[in-house]
Amino acid sequence: MNHSKSKELFIEAKKYIPGGVNSPVRAFTSVGREPVFVTEGIGSKLTDVDGNTYVDYICSWGPLILGHNSKIASEGIEKVLNHGTTFGMPTEIELKVARLMVENIKPLEKVRMVSSGTEATMSALRLARGYTRKNKIIKFEGCYHGHSDGLLVKSGSGMLTGGIPTSEGVPKEIIVNTLVAKYNDIESVRALIEANPLDIAGIIIEPIPGNMGLVEAQDGFLNELRSICTKEGIVLIFDEVISGFRIDFEGACGYYDIEADLVCYGKIIGGGMPVGAYGGKKEIMDMVAPLGGVYQAGTLSGNPIAMHMGFNVLNYLLHNKQIYDQLTNIAMRLEHGFKENLQKLKIENVSINRVGGMLCQFFVKGPVSSYDKVMKSNTKQYLVYFNEMLNQNVLIPPAQYECMFLSTEHTDEDISHTINAHYLAMKKVKNQWNEI
Ligand SMILES: *Cc1c(COP(=O)(O)O)cnc(C)c1O
Repeated sequence: MNHSKSKELFIEAKKYIPGGVNSPVRAFTSVGREPVFVTEGIGSKLTDVDGNTYVDYICSWGPLILGHNSKIASEGIEKVLNHGTTFGMPTEIELKVARLMVENIKPLEKVRMVSSGTEATMSALRLARGYTRKNKIIKFEGCYHGHSDGLLVKSGSGMLTGGIPTSEGVPKEIIVNTLVAKYNDIESVRALIEANPLDIAGIIIEPIPGNMGLVEAQDGFLNELRSICTKEGIVLIFDEVISGFRIDFEGACGYYDIEADLVCYGKIIGGGMPVGAYGGKKEIMDMVAPLGGVYQAGTLSGNPIAMHMGFNVLNYLLHNKQIYDQLTNIAMRLEHGFKENLQKLKIENVSINRVGGMLCQFFVKGPVSSYDKVMKSNTKQYLVYFNEMLNQNVLIPPAQYECMFLSTEHTDEDISHTINAHYLAMKKVKNQWNEI
């Protein structure tokens, strides 16, 4: 497969853009190769500058639940463009999106639009602190909530001794207020709360973690978190930037029937445009400026073009909930096909996690239900697997710790092709590592 134009562009881009990319994972660093530069996406397929076409399981990292270049998403967009692209003043389409969300998503009584998932979580945490008048927050190791200072933290040597920044440039003074618990380990949460009595403002969690591959919350874990938060007066924040509108129209809140106090959105909500949102109980949301003293603002928040596309997609999902069965069905077929391949190849130390229409293959023996286990994955094997899939025109995320993103546009043919490609790719892996 020829990638010469991508290679050239990457060399040139590196002269002007740090690492040649505007978001680090796009550099394909962990799969040991240069990225492909894209010219076009249609449905489930991507085309690169060298004319190669791929079945795409990145789907812009989640937003494109209806596939690339969806006419449903962009319907009427020319008309909107003709009226101007931004006003810095209220528009009716913002009301329409907010009303659609509040009327159809149980935990939401009010919602505020922002322009990214990072902004949504950052704002929700400030709000939780303003509302409770407390300082500390708890996050879980392996969960990603965007790149704001206070969230770039991992646990230190002992859990109660405080975390360490996962990025340079994050002051220690800021992260002393972020405590790190272990996913699926409710005792780790209790221990942190006991060690910091009456000082925890919020607990933020990906209810379906999709940034450490894909791990599922064990039975009762989210419910216990809910009751701890209620009992202790802690704001429970679900980061549904991936799971929102993907696992169910009502996200994990709907899927597991749990009401968080605040919910954060991103990715799908913008229908392919840069949008995030946070919402929840009226009593909490009314503390946001201009009503309350918690400041949060955005020049391009609720941008009319972004809102138009977001509304088109959300409205479609709301009225076509069968797509959630369709996505689950696709994920199940991939899961079964992959598992069959692994059996045929007598590969034992690879496992597959699936939650509804979300899916991830780990290069470690299952079950994988903790961050520690995820970190035991063999990323060198993933590298070989990724490249073999790419050579067969299947584009999976260029890192072990990401899940596959499906869309309603993935066809039967795409799935069969992917399963066949998986067999050959895993055979290559097996040939290089006998003990797998
Ligand atoms: C992608 C992501 C974010 C950050 O969203 P951006 O739009 O990239 O800022 C936050 N939380 C989760 C769970 C995500 O997957």
